[in-house]
Formats: sequence, C-alpha cells, structure tokens
Amino acid sequence: MLIILKSDVTEQQIEHLIDRVESLGLKAHLSRGTFRTVVGIIGDESKLASTPLEAVPGVSKVIPVLPPFKLASLEAHPQPSVIDVAGVKIGGGQLAMIAGPCAVESWERMDAIGAAVREAGANILRGGAFKPRTSPYAFQGLEEEGLKILRAAGDKHGMPVVTEVMDPRRVDLVEQYTDMFQIGARNMQNFVLLTAVGQTRKPVLLKRGMSATVKDLLMSAEYVLAQGNPQVVLCERGVKSFDPDTRNLFDVAAVPMTKQLSHLPIIVDPSHATGRPDLIPACAMAGLAAGADGVHIEVHDCPEKALSDGSQALLPSQYAELAEQLRGLAKLLGKEISQPVGVPA
Ligand code: PEP
Ligand code: MN
Repeated sequence: MLIILKSDVTEQQIEHLIDRVESLGLKAHLSRGTFRTVVGIIGDESKLASTPLEAVPGVSKVIPVLPPFKLASLEAHPQPSVIDVAGVKIGGGQLAMIAGPCAVESWERMDAIGAAVREAGANILRGGAFKPRTSPYAFQGLEEEGLKILRAAGDKHGMPVVTEVMDPRRVDLVEQYTDMFQIGARNMQNFVLLTAVGQTRKPVLLKRGMSATVKDLLMSAEYVLAQGNPQVVLCERGVKSFDPDTRNLFDVAAVPMTKQLSHLPIIVDPSHATGRPDLIPACAMAGLAAGADGVHIEVHDCPEKALSDGSQALLPSQYAELAEQLRGLAKLLGKEISQPVGVPA
C-alpha cells in the first residue's frame, strides 16, 4: 500500500502516521520527493481493513497495491482452481453444463426435465426449492419436499444437483440434499449466509448481484473462502440496466475481467441475464467464447405452466440444440465437458 501525503504535511503528522502503522505490526517506508512525501507500507495489508488511513491528518491518498480479496486473487493462487461437484469438475478447462427448471414443481416434472437435460448433455441438475420472489404472493418453492424431489431426480438421472439456499438457518437442511449450494443474486451480499456456507465443505455457486461490481462479487467469494471453504464457482447473471427489452444486461466482459483478477471459475447464466429464450443461445456461446467455465440454463418442458421464470425457459429440444452448439465451441476452445460419475437409471 502506498500513502501519498499532503504537500503541507507536518513532521509531527508524519511521525503520527508512522506510529499508527507500526502499532498495527506493519513496517512504514518513508520516501521524500521534491513535491510529495510517500509512505510505503510493508506487511499484511489486511491488517488495515478497519483502519481508515485516509482520515489520518496529513494523508492525501491511499493506494492499495494488493487486491482486498486476498484468497480469491490470482496472485494468491496463480493456477486456475478446479471445483469438484460430486465428480463433475468446473474450471481449468472443464466446463459446467448446469440445467433444469427455475423451481422444483413436482416429481413428474423434475423427472421429465432431468431425463431430457441429461440426454442433451447437461452435467449438473438445477432446481429451486426456496425461491427468492419479488412478490410475496408468488410461488415460494416446495421447501424440503422440493429438495427431496431434486435429490431423487439427480440420483435417478446420474447428475449432481445444485439448489439455492436463502437463509443461514436452512444451510444444514439444504446441505443434506444438495451437492452444491447456490447463493442467488439477491443474497450475494448476505454476509451471514456467505459465512454459513463457508463453514460447510460443499461447493458454492455464487451469483453476481444485479447491482454488484465484479470486485464486489470477489469480496463476497472472499467471505466463503475465509471460512475455509475453497470451493467457489462465480456466476455472471446480468446486471440491472435501463433497457426494458431485456431482463438484465449480460455483462460478458465480466468473464475475462474476473479471469484477470481471480483463480476461481466463472460460469454464465444467460437465462437470468436476458430473460428471453431467443437471446439465450447467442449469449451462452458468447460467454463460453469469452472464457467462461460453463453455462447455467433454465429448461422447462411446459414453460407456459411454469411456476417461476417460465417466460425465459428453453424447451428441452431447444436446450439440446444449444448444448450441441456449445459442445462444438468447447472443442474449438480445447475445453472439455466433465462427465458425471452417475449413470442414468
Ligand atoms: C435462479 O437461479 O433461479 C435465480 C433466482 O437466479 P438469480 O439469483 O441470478 O436471480
Ligand atoms: Mn430462475
């Protein structure tokens, strides 16, 4: 960290600043230039996380040298992380193909969609049992019954499962059924929830908040990693924009940007990013071409009857066609789609 001092800084202020830094167990290196004096801080910068050095008299500017997301940063871990979801690998050239309905609605539906997406080439089955709905009157999910159905469908069709957890008090319950936790966009900065999943040893799919920067996303990942759970997969799912023609704005640049900053895998979710089945294939392909470690897509066999997000669901046949295109692109990019260890019944 570099601290630029004000041009009229006094010797007393410099001394005070150095005392302040050294009292935190860090070293201060003073360098006096013709116009400005600069203090370089040597040591673990995280010790300064709760110290507003900008507020110390005589300080003009504080320039961090290392990113505040220490564990998530590429510097901390120069090799890409590979996350293992019950045998399905994500990252380091292996792609996630996560698919399924927005919500778990019934066994029959989950069974049919599970069979179809596995047949099409999906490697992880999704379905929400706890749904974060804008309206309290909308379908909220089948809760534990939904978790049981998702688990049974995953087992029957030989795929690991991912499902959203919204409440830290339900982490233990969800953990009994799922192979991977999903933290939804609305909870990206629910720090109590992030800490709770960080204390488990199951992988976490962390979705970007709709108004969060890439660095905010990485700071949220840091919460999980700091608890000792290294298994985090990030997900770009679009951010709020001014254009009512799409649900969100698909930020494809977030993919290579995240790759420059972090070793964690990042996948894309063109379903929530666009909210439109006609735009999903192009955005899925763009995400993969930009370096994403997989795609997350909502599929429903009867979108008009879906209890949640029916308007953005791909039909199984549309998903199968897209999956074929994604496989072709993956081959061109030299990437593999990790195969589940389970065998469909
Ligand atoms: C979902 O995956 O169904 C969902 C609610 O996603 P997001 O949190 O990205 O809106
Ligand atoms: Mn959804």
